[in-house]
Amino acid sequence: MRYDARVMNCRRTYIFIAGGVMSGVGKGIASASLGAILKSRGLKVTAVKIDPYINVDAGTMNPVEHGEVFVTKDGDETDQDIGNYERFLDEDIVKINYMTTGRVYLSVIERERALGYGGKTVEVVPHVPQEVIQRIKDAAEFHDADVTLIEIGGTVGEYQNVLFLEAARMMRLDTPDDVLVGLVSYLPIPGALGEMKTKPTQYAVRTLNSTGLQPDFIICRGSQPLDLPRKQKLATHCNVRQEYIISAPDLLTVYAVPEVFEKEGIGELVMKKLHLKAKHDPEMNAWQTLSKKAQDGGEPVRIAIIGKYAESGDFSLSDAYLSVVEAVKHAAWKLNRKPEIVWVSARQIKKTPKQLAKLLKGVDGVIVPGGFGKRDVEGKMLAIQYAREKGIPFLGICYGAQLAVVEFARHVLGLEDANSTEINSKTKEPVIHLMNEQVERMQDKNYGGTMRLGEYPCLLAKGSRVRALYGADQVMERHRHRFECNSDYRARLEADGLLHSGLSPDGSLAEMVELKEHPYFIGTQAHPEFLSRPFRPHPLFLGLIKAAASS
Ligand code: GLN
Repeated sequence: MRYDARVMNCRRTYIFIAGGVMSGVGKGIASASLGAILKSRGLKVTAVKIDPYINVDAGTMNPVEHGEVFVTKDGDETDQDIGNYERFLDEDIVKINYMTTGRVYLSVIERERALGYGGKTVEVVPHVPQEVIQRIKDAAEFHDADVTLIEIGGTVGEYQNVLFLEAARMMRLDTPDDVLVGLVSYLPIPGALGEMKTKPTQYAVRTLNSTGLQPDFIICRGSQPLDLPRKQKLATHCNVRQEYIISAPDLLTVYAVPEVFEKEGIGELVMKKLHLKAKHDPEMNAWQTLSKKAQDGGEPVRIAIIGKYAESGDFSLSDAYLSVVEAVKHAAWKLNRKPEIVWVSARQIKKTPKQLAKLLKGVDGVIVPGGFGKRDVEGKMLAIQYAREKGIPFLGICYGAQLAVVEFARHVLGLEDANSTEINSKTKEPVIHLMNEQVERMQDKNYGGTMRLGEYPCLLAKGSRVRALYGADQVMERHRHRFECNSDYRARLEADGLLHSGLSPDGSLAEMVELKEHPYFIGTQAHPEFLSRPFRPHPLFLGLIKAAASS
């Protein structure tokens, strides 16, 4: 289809996405992909994520409970879906785009205490959904978005997300032409039957109907594509026209989803329903190239991630490091390499060099990602020592960088007792210690949203490797930590070869460290993985993969 004129949109439109049948079927990726194909038509798109739990943010949750905590540039501790939105939309998402039940109730209560409701009785309905609506509209205004996607966490029929569905109903009642509702459902193929079943989705639609909402489209997730007879069946029973029932089978890579959705025609259908005019034909070339690269491979590059396994098994490990894994992929694809992640549990690592050599056999690069607490740190440090001594390319992220400093102080400076006070509060050599501003907060048990969070500037030293990699003398990176390098040790560490190559502008905080005499050994106090985008890999990951590929 051709569009003759650039039509300026000053309307705000909204697409709510709810889940049916079960969680974990890729509602976030589906919403992000829908956003990507709308953006490919020149529309401004943003996304709001709603998590129905009481926690005000994801920052206080254990990674086993929650998976990765994704940090926004303005310092919000959010859900990994926000990371998916940043990667798929290539847009920065901020605080106003993220809400939880706790956050919504907190502002309603604070407003009531400040007489913000003018003496009225404050009720769950309508005041709570009104607060939700206000936040959605604020996000749309902030981003000047033509389309705002709103992903409602959980599945329909749960008690927890009912007020968010109520917000969707109220918004739709108010401006029916500007609000769509989509359902991402799941169609199982029971082993004994070998046939894809539509009934759970039919029930999910009925449940959604009982909240006063009729879906405009249904995205049908399943291990296989949806065939015509089932599309027809769903159309009849769910009261949704057949072309608005979208097949979304499992794919080899999530980066192929936008292309598949475009082929299914959902972009045009949504545009039509919302009476939106594209600014140009869909530009999907970059997505096609990316999904091809993601599936074709190339020569493998093997990167070990030295992680902390979840108590409940291995499941949450990869989830907790989701953005790190994506950043490795982006960089590897850019360099035409096939990324292979080798999961190494830090707990497994024993103090026998042979065992470590076996665990890291064939590994081209090592990442020690962020983390908290005492558990498994010795294993991480053994891996760091191994990478340092054997010249294996290494990237330490946040805790990984702090532990690299501890390891260096112990084995190169000869400070046997060197430690982080997070691990041993009484250590004689506190090379990593609590930041000044954190001391009082910890005494007051003021844990929520009080780390050093969000984007901070960092100055890169002349002649350093990081400066060459970034091609800049100052960069912004996202942070999430309470501890820092103790500057009392800086001169000694530098004298022995651990260059403090990135500093905060006032020089007080070491933001990056690197070894001169090593193929690639960099530690960063920040989380570069949060800035990596599929079409713009992060320089520190590119550097790692380049070094790993030539090792
Ligand atoms: N636990 C460390 C700190 O709080 C590192 C945090 C992290 O890796 N994100 O400083």
